[in-house]
Formats: sequence, structure tokens, C-alpha cells
Amino acid sequence: MSESMNNKPKKQVKLEADNPYVLRVDNAIDVPENDIRTALTSGDKGFLHSFTTGSAVDGPGIRVVAWTTGCQFRCLYCHNPDTWKMRNGIPVTLERAVAELEKYRAGLKIMAGGFTISGGEPLMQDRFVINLFTAAKKMGIHTALDTNGSLGNRLSDSDLKQVDLVLLDIKAWDPENHRRVTGHDITPVIEFARRLSGIKKPVWIRFVLVPGYTDSKEEVKNIAKFVSGLENVERVDVLPFHQMGRFKWKELNMDYSLDNIEPPSSEDVNRVCSIFREEGLKAY
Ligand code: SF4
Repeated sequence: MSESMNNKPKKQVKLEADNPYVLRVDNAIDVPENDIRTALTSGDKGFLHSFTTGSAVDGPGIRVVAWTTGCQFRCLYCHNPDTWKMRNGIPVTLERAVAELEKYRAGLKIMAGGFTISGGEPLMQDRFVINLFTAAKKMGIHTALDTNGSLGNRLSDSDLKQVDLVLLDIKAWDPENHRRVTGHDITPVIEFARRLSGIKKPVWIRFVLVPGYTDSKEEVKNIAKFVSGLENVERVDVLPFHQMGRFKWKELNMDYSLDNIEPPSSEDVNRVCSIFREEGLKAY
């Protein structure tokens, strides 16, 4: 695949970003469809919004995070809708991504941190993700996959050996509500959660608390009951909805339906955490 158009060298976009809230679009707009298909099959090239450093919330310790582009979900509250289209990402060879990670290898060891791949939905680029995790493991770096879980069946058990921790989003429980919030069916997410439990793969559940959408007691209780029945969940992170991504929806001319939704109060977050705790889970 070419990273240039009309045979003219194209300026390489910097992979690092201060944070994932930087709006990035059209970085792979000129990549031929065939080249994208080849990349997705081989995993020799991926499409990345950015690399960010210093995250303390995307797995244990301090993390380097690679943010992939491409997501099939359409979460109403998504704070990075520029990552939905794979072509918004920077085309990055596996070699370049590994070299980027290598820069942080020593620091990550000192800080007992690791490498997280998030998105977008990383498993839209499952081969690239597994290649990158394989390289990370060879460097002795802890690996975490942040996923909506719906494409979990793309990973074999052998692929999953390259993943030390799965950060699995459960976005709603009621099937209709899940479809309303994400545009997609919850069934594959639940199946993946059960499969991870079956192989005792460490999991952190992530639940985004959105007032009026995911905050009903019944909804939270049902998720808590399901999660407490799994044998591999180390913790539940309750993530309060926020408006930091609102500007991206506006910039991209997309209809944003949560304009008037206020972030939940700390009392609301505590109330939801206690529902998870009542089921014997660690919730933060
Ligand atoms: S799964 Fe994540 S990236 Fe995809 S739409 Fe939902 S919040 Fe956005």
C-alpha cells in the first residue's frame, strides 16, 4: 500500500497526539480500497488516530495507548466519532507502529504500565492488532485490548494469548436499549464476555453512565448480576458520560442527540458503583 498520492511523497502525519480528543480526519482518504482490504487481511498495516502516552485509566499502571480508526457501533455518546471511519486514520505500517512503541519500552517497565489498543473498535483491524500485541509481548510489555466486544469471534484462543487484559464495554443490558444506545445487537458482546470467562482471561468491565439512557436501576442491576456470574472480572469501571467530544460531532456535521444531557453527579456514580458492589464486584 502506498502512503503517497500521485507518486508524490506525502508529509507523514505525526502519530503522537496530546490526547484522543484531537480531531483527525481523511488521513487515509487516498488509499485504494484494495490496499485497505489487503492490509486488513495481512495486518501488515493499520489505520491509527494516534498514539497517546501517560494514560492512567486504560489498564494497570501508566499506559501508552494506540487509538485505531474504524468502528461499527454508533454510540450516541461517542466522544471520538472521527474514529468511526477507518479512512480518517493515519496509514501506519506494522514496523512504524512497533518502532513507536519501542520508544516507550523502558519507561513502561519502570512505571509498571503497558500498552493498550483502543479506538474506534480495534477488532475492525484484528490482524494488525494481534501483530502489534505480539510485538509488544516480545518486548515484555503488558497488553490490554479495549473493545466493544462485538467482534470477539474474530480472535482465536491463540490470538487471545497475546492479550493480557481485556477492557470490555457493556453499554446497556436491555436488548432494545442496547440497540438504541449503540445501533447494534448485544448478543455477540455477551457471547464474548462468556467466552473470556471460560478461558479465565482477565477482564475489566467498562460501563458508561449516561443519565436518561443507561442509568436505570434495573439496567445497572441486570448488568451487575451478569458480570458477577463471570469468573474473570477484576473490576468494573463506571465511566461518567461527559461532553468533551461534543465539538467533534459539530465539526463533522453529525447530529448529536445528547446536547442537553448533563454529566451524572458524583452521587449518581456512587449509587451505580454500589449496585455493582452489592453483587460482590469491585467498582470504581
Ligand atoms: S464503540 Fe466506542 S468508538 Fe465505537 S461508537 Fe461506541 S464509543 Fe464510539
